[in-house]
Order: sequence, then C-alpha cells, then structure tokens
Amino acid sequence: RQAIYAELRDVEPFTRCGTRIQVMMNAGLRDDLSSLNLVGADGIGLFRTEFQFLVSATLPQREKQFRLYRDVLDAAGEKPVIFRTVDIGGDKAVPYLRSGEAENDENPAMGWRALRLALEREGLLKVQARALIEAAAGKALYVMFPMVSEPWEFEAAKSVFEAQLKYIKAQKKVLPESINYGAMLEVPALAEVLDLLIPKLSFLSVGTNDLTQFLFAADRANPKLAERYDWLSPAILRFLKRVALATDGAPVDLGICGEMGGRRLEALALLGIGFRRFSITPVSVGPIKELVRKVDLAEISGLMNGWLSQPPPDIRVALQEWAEGNGI
Ligand code: PEP
Ligand code: MG
Repeated sequence: RQAIYAELRDVEPFTRCGTRIQVMMNAGLRDDLSSLNLVGADGIGLFRTEFQFLVSATLPQREKQFRLYRDVLDAAGEKPVIFRTVDIGGDKAVPYLRSGEAENDENPAMGWRALRLALEREGLLKVQARALIEAAAGKALYVMFPMVSEPWEFEAAKSVFEAQLKYIKAQKKVLPESINYGAMLEVPALAEVLDLLIPKLSFLSVGTNDLTQFLFAADRANPKLAERYDWLSPAILRFLKRVALATDGAPVDLGICGEMGGRRLEALALLGIGFRRFSITPVSVGPIKELVRKVDLAEISGLMNGWLSQPPPDIRVALQEWAEGNGI
C-alpha cells in the first residue's frame, strides 16, 4: 500500500481537458495529518472536530482544543484546513452534556445535534470559536457549520465567531489573516433556500452521508438499508445537479465531503454534474486523482445531463459500461 501511495502522491489531478480538480481529505485526529503528504491531498476539506469531544470524558477545555487546532494547522503547513464545528449530540452522544436531553431523541440523526445543539449551548461554541481563532493566528481560517437547515442558523453561528474575533482583537492578539465561513449541505430543506444563503458563504460542502439518509428517509446506520438505495440514483443525482446549478456563477466554492465522493463511479458522476472539489477518505485520494486525469469534463457532463433527464434503467450499470468503453 505504501508503494501505491508513493506512486500516486505526486499525481496532479488535472482532467484530460486541463481543469485542476481539488482533491482534499477528511480527518479528525492529530494522527490523521500524517496522511496529508503521504497521499498528496490538497488539504483537509473536512476536519471533524467532534472526535476530540467524543473521546473525552469531560468537555475539552479551550487550551486543549487550541493545541489540537494549532497542531493540525502546523502539520498542514500551506495547505488549507476546513474545521467543522462540533457535530455532537444525537447518535454522537457525549456524557457531559446535561443528561437526558440528547438521550430523549427518538430519531437521533434528526435530533438535537450539531449546530442545533451548539447554538443553544452557546458557551460551547464560543470556546470552540476562540480556540480556532487563536490557533489560526496569522493564517487563513476556514470554518464550516454542520447541519445548517435554515440560513439564520448559519448567521447565528457566524455571529458567535465574529464576537469572539472582536474580543480577541481588543486583547491585541494576533488575528487570523482571514476567516472564511462555509456551511454543510446535508439537510435537504437548505437546498430550497440556497439562493438566500449563498451570498453569505465563502464555501459550501455537500455532506452526502447525511443528505442521502434524509433524502431517502433511510437510516445511514441500518445494515438492512445499506444496499437498498444507490448514490447513483436519479433522485440523488438530480438533487446534486440542482445544487451545483444554484452555485454556478456565484463566488462560492462548492465541494463534496461525504463518502460518495471517494468512490470511483460516484466521483465520475459528480464531475459530470459540476463538482470540482472533493474531500474524501485518505485512501481514496490517490485513486480519485488518477481517475480525474482520465476524464474529459465536457464529455462526462454531456453524458450525465442526458441521463439525468432520461435515466437509463440503472445508472450504475450504464456508467460502469461507459467507463470501461472509454478507458476509465
Ligand atoms: C456527511 O454527513 O456526509 C458528512 C460528511 O458528515 P458526517 O459523516 O460526519 O456526518
Ligand atoms: Mg453529516
């Protein structure tokens, strides 16, 4: 495996037609950072900050959070890191939240989690904001909010950061060079009001793990449903196409950070739909970079557009055949 990594590490993900695709990786632990240069990713497109919260018996103190974020930024060097604020609660229960509150959720994935929880436990978000801002002193900070369902939630979370920024500024500490705010699109309702949110965003990242479970009303953790609905179904692909069209021409950087983007045929379909930034599991970075180099964007988008309006009986089968026939 090391040999394969080494071979693909320096592959530059330009498509056959010359477009540079961003291939970033997902991470959540300090140790994950060693993969960044090993697999040759363009940065961390999703740093799941809740891992630190989940492995801790008590709420991680600001200093502890600060050290983790600073170490991650140091290890990433010039490469960008997108920190996602905590996605705890619901099924990612932590013992130190006031007992009973999260446990009462009957549908934890759709429950009191992520930003919903963080906006009510403002102290928690404030501490995280301060740790992130201080850790990114002199650097660009990318902050992403999970489970944004309505635009006001994004704005409320951003204000918590802006207030902390003001506070740190008043203390005459070194500030980040810039703060770039983004949202995850993983709740379908947000797609219906994207036009209202886009002007406020610097980037948008589609979380296909949660998004597909909500689109199909199918629990992502239920093994009985794992094979039932396909990421390459017309419903998902049409939905994603609409999202891509909504961001087209807007100064917002669109990406994908769910597991879907790390799979070969799915990545091919996403390129055809208009996605140009992928954040995926580290082992998929090399193979997806290699795939990108074989793709002509006009060709694959022509194909996908046709299939989205007139889907073949099974897009996966059709795409597999097409890929084989085209040396991909
Ligand atoms: C997602 O939902 O697609 C995602 C990337 O976030 P997580 O898997 O952490 O819920
Ligand atoms: Mg998610």
